[in-house]
Amino acid sequence: MTGFIHYGTQIAGVRYRNATGDGEILAKHVVNATGAWSQELCEELHVSPTKGVHLVVPLLHPGRALILAAPQDGRYFFILPWNGNSLIGTTDTPYEGKLEDVSVTENDVHYLLEAASFYLPKWHLEPSSVISSFAGVRPLVMRKNVPASSISRKHLLHVSSSGLINILGGKYTIYRRMAEETVDLITSTPCKTASSPLYAENYSEEEMRQRMEKMKLPLPLREHLLANYGPGTMAILTIVERSPEEGKQICPLHPHIFAELTYAIENEYVVKPEDWFERRTSIAYTPCRGKSCAEVVADKIKSYKHRIDQLQTL
Ligand SMILES: Cc1cc2nc3c(=O)[nH]c(=O)nc-3n(C[C@H](O)[C@H](O)[C@H](O)COP(=O)(O)OP(=O)(O)OC[C@H]3O[C@@H](n4cnc5c(N)ncnc54)[C@H](O)[C@@H]3O)c2cc1C
Repeated sequence: MTGFIHYGTQIAGVRYRNATGDGEILAKHVVNATGAWSQELCEELHVSPTKGVHLVVPLLHPGRALILAAPQDGRYFFILPWNGNSLIGTTDTPYEGKLEDVSVTENDVHYLLEAASFYLPKWHLEPSSVISSFAGVRPLVMRKNVPASSISRKHLLHVSSSGLINILGGKYTIYRRMAEETVDLITSTPCKTASSPLYAENYSEEEMRQRMEKMKLPLPLREHLLANYGPGTMAILTIVERSPEEGKQICPLHPHIFAELTYAIENEYVVKPEDWFERRTSIAYTPCRGKSCAEVVADKIKSYKHRIDQLQTL
């Protein structure tokens, strides 16, 4: 989104630039859901970005998630089992740089390793133990008369004087509620979220297990699919039934089968290999970083070129 279209003092649409060029969209309502970038689009907001960093290290504590207080400052951080490794995080430090340049610094690594080592000294965690790391920015919504130290992670729905609807703050875990409140603000018909299951076809776990047994899928694959797709597992099974090739593992290092990649391309907007490796799976953060199956994944995505070209012109 590169700019607003105004009708008098009110926002009446947006200008955008995408892979195919520039365009304009007129709209009755424009929703600003740009997280830490929100203030760039609406000066009335007071957003103070903070940086979050996660480190991936070899598995420290199998089967258990630990929530701990960092000895340096008492802030909570986690050590979680994560795709065969452990995830240590997160930092929450004020960030003033360019939002798209956020990155993991030596100080961030030092802070998290020092905190984790305080509780797990026998692991001798050092910077060389870090397999991979990632950083992001959170929008911390400042409110009038609230000191920065006690700013909550609560979300904010705000309509600016130009009619721009801003929804920001909050967590992944409450995204449906945030969407519901936004929809309810815009439309006169109440949002249907509360009565709509995430997947239209709501199969029970038992039904999915029976179908996988009938298909003779290996046990570890059954558990992998259920853990990752929950009630959506049936959609993956339907793709496996199209062709036996779809049921094959993409690479022996990771549990994902071709049907998952097909599903991600057809339904989850995977248009580049990094969408798959970084955003739909976490393979990019494992020791192999996806190198051994990069070509196979790229070829599969290319086979959908026509469809992807169509998506990118939308
Ligand atoms: C390291 C880290 C770990 C986290 N862990 C958790 C967790 O475990 N659980 C949890 O619930 N939350 C977690 N969070 C918080 C979570 O990431 C945020 O709450 C969530 O991403 C906010 O979603 P959002 O859509 O509001 O903003 P964002 O996810 O930031 O999305 C905003 C989008 O707007 C885009 N954008 C900006 N400007 C423009 C423009 N002009 N035109 C078009 N697009 C634009 C940006 O590119 C971005 O994609 C974590 C955050 C970090 C940084």
